[in-house]
Amino acid sequence: MAKTTERVFGDIPGVHIGMVFGSRAELAQASVHRPTMAGISGSGSEGADSIVLSGGYEDDEDFGDEIVYTGHGGNDPETRRQIADQELTRGNLALAVSCREGLPVRVVRGADLGSPFAPASGYRYDGRYAVEDYWHQQGRSGFLVWRYRLRRDDDRPPAWAPAATPVPAGAARPARRPVTTQRIVRSTAAAVWVKQLHGHRCQVCGLRLDTPSGPYAEAAHIRPLGSPHHGPDTPDNLLCLCPNHHVLFDLGALTISDAFEVVGAGSHLRLVPGHEPSREHLRYHREHLGPAATAGWPAVEDEAAGEGPA
Ligand SMILES: [Zn+2]
Repeated sequence: MAKTTERVFGDIPGVHIGMVFGSRAELAQASVHRPTMAGISGSGSEGADSIVLSGGYEDDEDFGDEIVYTGHGGNDPETRRQIADQELTRGNLALAVSCREGLPVRVVRGADLGSPFAPASGYRYDGRYAVEDYWHQQGRSGFLVWRYRLRRDDDRPPAWAPAATPVPAGAARPARRPVTTQRIVRSTAAAVWVKQLHGHRCQVCGLRLDTPSGPYAEAAHIRPLGSPHHGPDTPDNLLCLCPNHHVLFDLGALTISDAFEVVGAGSHLRLVPGHEPSREHLRYHREHLGPAATAGWPAVEDEAAGEGPA
């Protein structure tokens, strides 16, 4: 057993892509995938941090960069066939939470997977994947199964050699639906904190979206991260918004005044004690993401200065 109980999302230090472990016990010892039996490591409150693909479910599909993974429960451990419906609980709920929150999932393939991407022996760490979407459907045996599409979300080369991997004869690859625009919502401690403090209610409209896996909201950076904005990932640079108002805010259709008025919605920003958005970042947003013509906004510094407030 791993000594720590803290769940780690993403890479385990010292464990590189392609590293092979001889057994589930070794995998657990290295904290790559801590449960020694279950295929999904995670909880419904925290999300899933890792999965093992080892051929346990008849409905799993492995395309290398893309995996359609079947949730757990409802199968006969001897025959591996479904004998009951699966429920959106435990590991299944954990994967849904990882999708909702954009958490990285470590993927491990076992030699008994029966896939061209499986290792020759043992259990191989194959890097980080993102849970792109999930749904439920009738499995091959007629019972309800939860299915999760995981897509490789890792810049490093895969452990398998793509060109050297033959597609087995007769294993016709099912047509894949066209990839639609997908926003992977990154989650950070600050984002989680702000969303929880606001009870997942939008600070513009008060809406909270309830889903079977829990409430959904988005943490919107006021001053964007990354070049050229270099906004910080801190609570005072975040708003808790519904998806619609997040998009409107990001696209500058909504701005927030120094008095926390929502310009464009004719309302006042909903505030919760303990979280005060930075007026400096709000000003930056107004100046650089709001309507291009800043005339009419009071106290806007010279645009030509370019960088905004430090
Ligand atoms: Zn809203």
